Amino acid sequence: MTHIVIVGGGHAAAQAVTSLRQNKFEGDVTLISDEPVLPYQRPPLSKAYLSGDLAAERLPILRQVAYENAGVTLKLGLRATRIDRAAKQLELGDGEVLPYDYLILATGGHARRLTCPGHDLKGLHYVRTMADTDAMRAEFLKAEKLVVIGGGYIGLETAAVARKMGKKVTVLEAADRILSRVVAPEVSACYQAIHEAEGVTVLTHQMVTEIEGKDGHVAAVLTEDGGRYEADMVVAGIGLVANADLAAAAELDVHPMGIVVDDHCRTTDPAIYAVGDVTWHHNALYGRDMRLESVQNAVDQAKVAVENMLGEDVVYDTLPWFWSDQYGMKLQIAGLSQGYDTLVTRGDAAARSVAFFYLKDGVMIAADCVGRVAEFMGAKKLIAERVPVTVEALTDESRSFKEIVTGFLTA
Ligand SMILES: Cc1cc2nc3c(=O)[nH]c(=O)nc-3n(C[C@H](O)[C@H](O)[C@H](O)COP(=O)(O)OP(=O)(O)OC[C@H]3O[C@@H](n4cnc5c(N)ncnc54)[C@H](O)[C@@H]3O)c2cc1C
Repeated sequence: MTHIVIVGGGHAAAQAVTSLRQNKFEGDVTLISDEPVLPYQRPPLSKAYLSGDLAAERLPILRQVAYENAGVTLKLGLRATRIDRAAKQLELGDGEVLPYDYLILATGGHARRLTCPGHDLKGLHYVRTMADTDAMRAEFLKAEKLVVIGGGYIGLETAAVARKMGKKVTVLEAADRILSRVVAPEVSACYQAIHEAEGVTVLTHQMVTEIEGKDGHVAAVLTEDGGRYEADMVVAGIGLVANADLAAAAELDVHPMGIVVDDHCRTTDPAIYAVGDVTWHHNALYGRDMRLESVQNAVDQAKVAVENMLGEDVVYDTLPWFWSDQYGMKLQIAGLSQGYDTLVTRGDAAARSVAFFYLKDGVMIAADCVGRVAEFMGAKKLIAERVPVTVEALTDESRSFKEIVTGFLTA
């Protein structure tokens, strides 16, 4: 009987289980995760789970009974420690050796850690795992002054939750604007204005040099230009490091950003696939290699990997998309904006109902939509179809966006 072993406890691993069963795989499946809980959704960790609006029971992607019904052997709270590719065996932290026919590495990543003086003080937190959020919750509820290091999505979502609870919140961003890696300056400005209107102090060009402590606990954050920001809690959201060590030790091809996979989600060993945040892969739509940190990518790559493993010939070429929730507003992002030459704004940023479209050579390559679901849905089609668009039509608010999209698609 074919044995498929999945390493990971996130969206990619759970989707691999679902896809194996949907594709009527009848062999054995074992899932190993070093987290002691069922694979769960990570996005709420900086949103509704952090605020306490979503209970822990709602986090698992699949319930225990789904694994039981699917005959999946779960090994939770256990690390995969070594891949013996020649013998097709996986070694686990408890000494067990599992033979596999196919291995799926869905090992994701971990939060990048600060290394400056004070990095080991109590009261400095990261948000990657349920255990991280659980560990910070009691302190978070009590904290009055929160400093967030990093103006990316996780930092800004944490800031939004903290502001809703009435805390004094300061966001320190090293770059010249928040969200600088992913959005246009206009969108950064829009989000900075929203946070400031909500009472957050957002400071850019702030390179953190030290966390100052008192009695072993954080007391302030110091920056290169002499700034000192008092804090009784600090949350750092400064990026992700791929969990690619297992693959690297097994001498699979590994890029500094993640495990290299081909367009079938296969590593350099045909018996080993890798999916989700841990992969460094080629995106055909954008013609370049990338790592994506999104639920969409984890789910889509897991589907592709499973189908290929079961004998299909499926290429991963889906459009990346992402979302972020801040202050009850949904930001939906379609595509990747790098390389755009024209930014088109539809709607009113001040009213928090706006879509920003990124065009390159007259074709839409990405969109950031705030409270604009129709624009998000339409933009996904336009980006995928690569049809020419015009600024006049995109900004014509007298017509529904659906009608505008149909016009472009049928022109
Ligand atoms: C706070 C937060 C908010 C987010 N918000 C959004 C959002 O709004 N929208 C969105 O699209 N995405 C969001 N993301 C990103 C999204 O959660 C990730 O893209 C997604 O979780 C990736 O899934 P994955 O399965 O590839 O990896 P992960 O979720 O990282 O799972 C990897 C798993 O593998 C385990 N593991 C690693 N190594 C081993 C080993 N050797 N042995 C056993 N187990 C191992 C890890 O412990 C972990 O359980 C957010 C992420 C975070 C942290």
